[in-house]
Formats: sequence, structure tokens, C-alpha cells
Amino acid sequence: MRSIYDLSEEDFKKYLEDMGEKPFRARQLMEWIYRHKISSFDEITNMKKTFVEQLKKDFVIDSLECVTMQKSSDGTRKFLFRLADGNLIESVLMNNDYGYSICVTTQVGCNMGCVFCASGMKKKLRNLNTSEIVLQLMTAERLAEVKITHIVIMGIGEPFDNYENVTRFMKIVNHPLGLEIGARHITVSTSGLVPKIKEFADFDLQVNLAISLHAPNGTIRSEIMQVNKAYPIDELIEAIKYYIAKTNRRVTIEYILLRDINDSREQANELADLLHGMNVYVNLIPYNEVLEKPYKRSTKESMQAFFDQLKKRRINVQLRREQGGDIDAACGQLRSKQMKKEENN
Ligand code: SAH
Ligand code: SF4
Repeated sequence: MRSIYDLSEEDFKKYLEDMGEKPFRARQLMEWIYRHKISSFDEITNMKKTFVEQLKKDFVIDSLECVTMQKSSDGTRKFLFRLADGNLIESVLMNNDYGYSICVTTQVGCNMGCVFCASGMKKKLRNLNTSEIVLQLMTAERLAEVKITHIVIMGIGEPFDNYENVTRFMKIVNHPLGLEIGARHITVSTSGLVPKIKEFADFDLQVNLAISLHAPNGTIRSEIMQVNKAYPIDELIEAIKYYIAKTNRRVTIEYILLRDINDSREQANELADLLHGMNVYVNLIPYNEVLEKPYKRSTKESMQAFFDQLKKRRINVQLRREQGGDIDAACGQLRSKQMKKEENN
């Protein structure tokens, strides 16, 4: 049966229309589900009994099973969830000075094959449904007893390879009668699916876009990110420029610093040339080493030198502070550990 958390207000309107009900009930339903967080349709008091019975026939108010929750000394919590079909996914809840943010997963595994990433070690089995993304947030909120105000769509998977469900998720969590998470508090990160970046320029909500660039040129990018073969860096830069022109919004450029791969001062210069004149903000990310991978984190000195060089070239840049360093915080690490444990049982 279909999960109630799969429907945006528009989807509810269509359903209501089919049922011969008034479209304004869509807003009421959003309020019951996301404001009052009902666990049974019987809690609905402002609709006809017959309609409530119909809802029960058509939808389920489902939940996510939490397998483990790790808490780090800095307050970061990492959740491992089991989906109805047995697959495992993870979400990370972070406690920032501006409030709580959650990092959500969008696919079971990932097919993009970035060589440094733990998530990509397991091929994509399927996309997550909208409900499975929504429920990560709602379950984390409930278990941690906090109110989440910010979302980063940076967990396992390539969000733009699951575009429909990810954009529907954004509309649901943004709904003013529901979870009410401001569009500017939502960030989606893509490894660079060019056609979807262009399509996203026309998306209704003012969501932040982050691009995993990770290299100053096509040669290095192709070595570490397979996606560069399908969508070369020049096309990616063009798409980002198109997006900025169309939306007038600043784009975040993510750049993981990998020792001796992409972290030299010359490469910082090359990156500055590439991004020259663009309305972007560069986020330098210390690499979280992955047991099975040969890649190493850059030294503190190289990270600082890379940062200084970009600054000198007047690029907006920050060195991301780390969170959850003591709890398998790298994408996909907790999941792969649990999967190994289960394989061995
Ligand atoms: N698939 C999307 C979103 C999920 S990954 C994307 O690639 O953009 C979110 C971010 O974490 C990406 O920038 C990714 O490159 C980065 N990342 C992946 N593995 C990492 C690791 N071990 N250490 C630090 N960052 C990592
Ligand atoms: Fe997939 Fe992102 Fe990991 Fe690349 S970095 S393998 S796109 S999750």
C-alpha cells in the first residue's frame, strides 16, 4: 500500500479530486500528518468518517525501523535505518549553533562510482521513495527529541538520479502547514548531472545547490569521478553558470582535499581560474579516510595553503569544520560496516 508520506500537497489535491472531495482538504491533510504527526487516520476529526475510511484503504502511515543510533561526543548522531524491504540506509543528525540539521540518504547505494567514496562501493539497488526520505527526518526528530530546521541532501546516493522523489521531498518538508523547513535551509548536493542541474534552475523553491567538483580540471576529475566522462567539467561549469544566471543564486562548490591528488597550490590556482567571475562559494572538505580506499586526507599545512591561495585569488572559500569524527561519519561507512556484519552472520 502507498505510504501517506509519499504525497505532496499537489498529489493530495489530485487524489481528492478523484475522490470527489474538496481540494482544500489537501492542506488539512498536510497539517494532520506533519503538524499533528498522527499515527492513525482515526485521529482526524474534521473530515467525514467515510472519507477517513477511504484514506485507510488507500494509504498506510508507516515508519522506519532504527537499527542503531550512534552518538558522538560533539552531539552528532548517526542513524542506521532498515527499510521495509530489508535494505539499510543512514542519516546523520548534527547539532549546529544555528539549530539541528539532518543529512539524508536518497538511494540504496550509488552508481556514480567516485573512487574516494564509501557509498559508491555498493551499487545502487534502487531509488528511495519520497516517504523513505521524509521518514528519515521525522524518525530522527522523534528519536532524538529535537526540531530539525536544516536539511542537507548529502547522504548515500545521487539525489539528481532520483530527481522526482527528491524534489517532492523538498516540497513536503517545506510545506507551511507541515514541517515548515525554509527552502533556504535545504541544500542538495549533486556530483554533476548536467541536464538535471539545468532542470533544477526552474524548480519552484529557492533551495541551495551544491556541486561536488573535487578537481580543478577534467583529467583529475575523470580519475576520481566517473561522472566526468558522461558530463565533462566544461559542460558542468556551463550548467552551473546557466543555473546562476537563471536563479540569481550563489552555488556552493564542494572540494574534498585528497593528499597529493588535488591539493597542491598550483591546483588551487587552476581552480581559481576555473571559477573566476562566478557567483560561487567554495567549501573545502577534509577527506574522511575510508578503510578500503587508498586515499589520504591532506595535511593541515596543505589544506591551509590551498585555502590561502584561493583567498588570495579572491574566491569565497571556507574550510569545513568536522563533525562526528569519532563515529564513522564518512558517507556510507556505518552502512557498509553493518552490511559486513550481517553478511558474516
Ligand atoms: N552524491 C551526491 C551527494 C552525496 S555525497 C554528491 O556526490 O554530491 C555528499 C558529499 O560528500 C559529496 O561532496 C561527496 O563527494 C562527499 N564525500 C563522499 N565521501 C567522502 C569522504 N569519505 N570524506 C569526505 N567527503 C566525502
Ligand atoms: Fe555517489 Fe556522491 Fe559518493 Fe559519488 S560522492 S559515489 S555521487 S554518493
